[in-house]
Amino acid sequence: MTSSSFVRDLPSISGEQVAGKRVLVRVDFNVPIVDGEIQDDNRIQAAMTTIDHLVRQDATVILMSHLGRPKGQRVEELSLRPVAERLSELIERPVSFIDDCVGERVEAIVRDAEPGDILLLENTRFHPEDTANDPEFARQLARLGDLFVNDAFGTVHRSNASTTGVAAYIPAVAGFLVEHELQQLGHLVEAPNRPFACIVGGLKVSDKIGVLENLVTLADSVLIGGAMANTFLAAKGADVGSSYVEDGDGIKLAQQIIDLAEEEDCSLLLPLDVVVAQKLAEGQETQVVPADKIPDGWMALDIGPRTRMLYIVHLADAHTIFWNGPMGVFEIEEFADGTRAIADAVADNPGFTVIGGGDSVAAANQFKVADRISHISTGGGAALALLEGESLPGIEAILEAPL
Ligand code: ADP
Ligand code: MG
Repeated sequence: MTSSSFVRDLPSISGEQVAGKRVLVRVDFNVPIVDGEIQDDNRIQAAMTTIDHLVRQDATVILMSHLGRPKGQRVEELSLRPVAERLSELIERPVSFIDDCVGERVEAIVRDAEPGDILLLENTRFHPEDTANDPEFARQLARLGDLFVNDAFGTVHRSNASTTGVAAYIPAVAGFLVEHELQQLGHLVEAPNRPFACIVGGLKVSDKIGVLENLVTLADSVLIGGAMANTFLAAKGADVGSSYVEDGDGIKLAQQIIDLAEEEDCSLLLPLDVVVAQKLAEGQETQVVPADKIPDGWMALDIGPRTRMLYIVHLADAHTIFWNGPMGVFEIEEFADGTRAIADAVADNPGFTVIGGGDSVAAANQFKVADRISHISTGGGAALALLEGESLPGIEAILEAPL
């Protein structure tokens, strides 16, 4: 595949001489931690290519990240200290943890560090100035490096001091992870091999309205599942029983997508049948009913067997597939068949396949198909923002940084 225009003009870490330089790297180490234990280190692993490259090229590597939402104050449970330990195990080198990210003491430690050293700064969001994108705070961060590398794909759609602000003061380039994500997701947006099918599920139409608008324009078909299917069915006048239907503008937004799909000649597929129960819980009595005739007191919690078949057959013809959002409440076995069937269908497709979104990626892992997917995006919100056609502040900042 050719390189997409998303990366063609983007300054890359691979073109930089970094030996002897202090390189400040924004990574996405926002990993789940319970009682000091890291539950899933995928995001740490995803940053390894860049860190490893810099160490081998004799740079001094200064890593920074946010973790959770400490709301601008020090929260011990949201310290990055456990991440420094895990990173050290993974990279088989010492990683020095520094318990703040700005200030004279931090500057002195960074000044004394040697080429090949790896330092991890404390959670940038312990300072309210990070999310506020405060220029003075960004300048303090920038003092720690000769070069800024943004490798935090998960936050490229946000304007924070540590993701965009810092690039106003020192030269900036994209890290390997950011470059790879843009390259892969770029294939969906620019000249995808057709037919191009998208599967969109999950909870809310309003969360995904922007991406749905763009996908019905880009793709040949969009297959709807999950709770948001109820909102679409309700827009078509179906009886949805006590299914979750998005209040507020949900139905209006769904109708907009239905109309736009027709204008754009995109086939919008909705569930034919659904698995219903009286409560969203384990061990419930279930039945399969037509999607537009859900009895009172019952709610749709998964797509049904006819819908699974329709979607599987449809996906078999696609040459490009993007999937975001589970088909049902896959966390509960009774309502997992729809999501499992889609995961298998995407994995079985020999074309170019992409999964994005926190819960969808979790489903791909749970159903053990991840190694048969062309690209699994590490950044849910960022991937959706890119597919919405939004400009990405983290990328803009690299392009506008001083040389
Ligand atoms: P992603 O993180 O992949 O973007 P979302 O966050 O939009 O996906 O949606 C995932 C959630 O939607 C899951 O927790 C799942 O249980 C829930 N969900 C899916 N289908 C239904 C349904 N029919 N009723 C209620 N919740 C649902
Ligand atoms: Mg989610």
